[in-house]
Amino acid sequence: MLLEVKDLEVFYGRIQALRGISFSVAEGEIVTLIGANGAGKTTTMKTMSGVRTVTKGSVTFDGQDITKAPSHKRVMMGLCQAPEGRGIFPGMTVVENLEMGCYLRTDRKSAAKDADMERVFELFPRLKERRDQAGGSMSGGEQQMLAIGRALMSKPRVLLLDEPSMGLAPMLINQIFRIIQEINAQGTTVLLVEQNAAKALAIAHRAYVLETGHIVKTGAGKDLLTDPSVRDAYLGGGGH
Ligand code: ATP
Repeated sequence: MLLEVKDLEVFYGRIQALRGISFSVAEGEIVTLIGANGAGKTTTMKTMSGVRTVTKGSVTFDGQDITKAPSHKRVMMGLCQAPEGRGIFPGMTVVENLEMGCYLRTDRKSAAKDADMERVFELFPRLKERRDQAGGSMSGGEQQMLAIGRALMSKPRVLLLDEPSMGLAPMLINQIFRIIQEINAQGTTVLLVEQNAAKALAIAHRAYVLETGHIVKTGAGKDLLTDPSVRDAYLGGGGH
């Protein structure tokens, strides 16, 4: 397993957000965590990227214990988050934002960087068209693409995506999920947190269902998509 989480407990003061969750992500997989508001999805992602402190349990990445590793170390090891709510640099251009994505890379001045930027532009032609435009002046969907593109510039082995479809128009939502599949097909492992459970399960190799800080179910994405209890709770009752 590339990423292995064991018995994780995380608190906000006295509020316990994660109550001992365990999950794993193998190299090459798309794994998704689904769950209602407040289930602990964002907290899990923040813990993977090193923003939240772990009270109990462990996080192992590529065989190394990273439970207490700071965020920049994780990025250097290849664990990188494209944050919820975009989090791009509004005053910088698209190209400058993308360049910021690889500032921790040792080969950042080399041709490798240019090739990676081209790869991002192939995935998101829209960003190429707008390469000299300020990030903050773009639409929500474009900013979301830029945030994912910036994360890809760090050459992650595991890309952490927190609600990539949030706030997007339906057409763009489909496009974002297609692009996530494409990124995965090109060799990047993906851990995806989504409220849009139907779309997430449709592209995920495996999934975990989170409920109030516990994992209550796990299985193949396609199986959970047809699981009656998952349909009732997270997929709008299966067409009622
Ligand atoms: P959402 O999709 O609404 O963001 P989520 O599944 O991502 O939901 P989390 O945001 O991880 O859930 O929240 C898990 C629990 O931790 C919730 O009970 C929430 O109220 C609590 N929580 C989250 N952030 C804080 C905070 N900054 N201070 C106190 N409690 C928090």
